[in-house]
Amino acid sequence: MEKILVANRGEIALRIIRAAKDLGIKTAAIFSEVDKDSLHVRFADETVCVGGARPEESYLNIPRIIAAAEITGADAIHPGYGFLAENPSFAEACEDNNIIFIGPSSQVMKKMGDKAEAKKVMKEANVPVMPGSDGIVKNVGEALTIAEKVGYPVVVKAAAGGGGRGMRIARNDLELKTGFRMAQSESQAAFGDNRLYIEKYIENPRHIEIQILADSYGNVVHLAERECSIQRRHQKLVEEAPSTAIDEKLREKMGEAAVTGAKKLGYESAGTFEFILDEDDSFYFMEMNTRIQVEHTVTEMITGVDILTEQIRIANGEPLLIPTQDKIQLNGHAIEVRINAEDHTLDFTPRPGTINALHFPGGAGIRIDSHIYQGYKIPPNYDSLLLKLIAYGRDREQSRKRMLRALDEFVIRGVPTTIPLYREILTHPDFIQGRLNTNFIKNLGY
Ligand code: ADP
Ligand code: ADP
Ligand code: MG
Repeated sequence: MEKILVANRGEIALRIIRAAKDLGIKTAAIFSEVDKDSLHVRFADETVCVGGARPEESYLNIPRIIAAAEITGADAIHPGYGFLAENPSFAEACEDNNIIFIGPSSQVMKKMGDKAEAKKVMKEANVPVMPGSDGIVKNVGEALTIAEKVGYPVVVKAAAGGGGRGMRIARNDLELKTGFRMAQSESQAAFGDNRLYIEKYIENPRHIEIQILADSYGNVVHLAERECSIQRRHQKLVEEAPSTAIDEKLREKMGEAAVTGAKKLGYESAGTFEFILDEDDSFYFMEMNTRIQVEHTVTEMITGVDILTEQIRIANGEPLLIPTQDKIQLNGHAIEVRINAEDHTLDFTPRPGTINALHFPGGAGIRIDSHIYQGYKIPPNYDSLLLKLIAYGRDREQSRKRMLRALDEFVIRGVPTTIPLYREILTHPDFIQGRLNTNFIKNLGY
């Protein structure tokens, strides 16, 4: 592998460019017209404008992106997260054009991209899955029958769903009838696919996920868990590793489930198994993300494994640097907050604008992954993530205190950010105690 085309934008585009540089691999970046002043465009070795601001014209435009790889002579493409990262047609287009897709094969991606199908595959591998429909639910009548079987509350989910969209919770027949139709049209609009499935809705669960790495020599390891329960609209805001809910025994059990699932799939790349953890410690597979995740950083901090460079090395046919589970060691604690240009007091409304003053915090244990700079104009066309702030410490309390120190040093002027919200969360008695569930933000009143 000599040159990677970075098929994304924002902080993850920079993260990919940095990993490539660490490996001595050249980079070419694509960008849309409104992103011409973005840092990923400045940091890449070469750049290609692929189209207008609308994602369909640029970051979702498969023919243009493949052409950009050909023009720049890139022999590999990294899709990042979001956009085309979990689109099997894109992986297939790379395969057809002899370009290495940095991720799993299009076939495996297709299986996991259909969330109803993914659950079937995991059930066959004896991974515990959330009780619910056996695949796609065709109509409201069928939905009512399943709800009667599993018991309310239930959640209707889009088979093609992602980013927390296309989900509806129902607590009775009436809510299910309306929720089903709403989820159907929401999913059609967001994903061009209206297939739904149903599962039991767990009331106060944790979202716990397991990071895995699998190479093409049959080595599969897990890098322990990430706690991602602090969410708004089913999207993560704060993540940490390890989780206060997981002891060595449960970690081994959940890690084993993820490794078994990856082996069953013949998975090759970095990937994440997302689980719901109930209050009684039972856990259920929800979905697999066949890409790098936003919150991979906290795992990097506590394992010392560079997940991005490993993902690239795997795609290049190299074996894992640490191929055996017993050599994976956890040290310390890391917390990440996603700082968004949003007004969290107004239902997290995105607030794009110009960053007219900026000061980044620093010091022991602080990491920032970001594409913003003083004078940067945030385009309104994409998501509102400005940066990821990660605090590492020898234990959870040190990492929490360092995070608060960094939040205090931060200066961002020009747009509202979620920094005040994170101060509130990190000083909340329940957070300090590690008593978390997916309703944390809702319970704060936001
Ligand atoms: P992670 O699992 O990495 O935490 P998120 O669910 O927060 O991922 O999504 C990562 C990013 O990708 C977010 O910016 C989100 O808006 C975007 N995203 C996720 N799924 C989709 C999708 N199906 N289509 C478009 N964007 C998506
Ligand atoms: P996406 O593909 O949008 O990431 P997920 O299936 O991963 O969707 O679910 C997103 C979030 O929704 C989870 O992190 C969790 O907070 C919540 N959720 C999903 N399914 C359930 C469930 N069965 N019970 C309770 N909460 C759920
Ligand atoms: Mg998910």
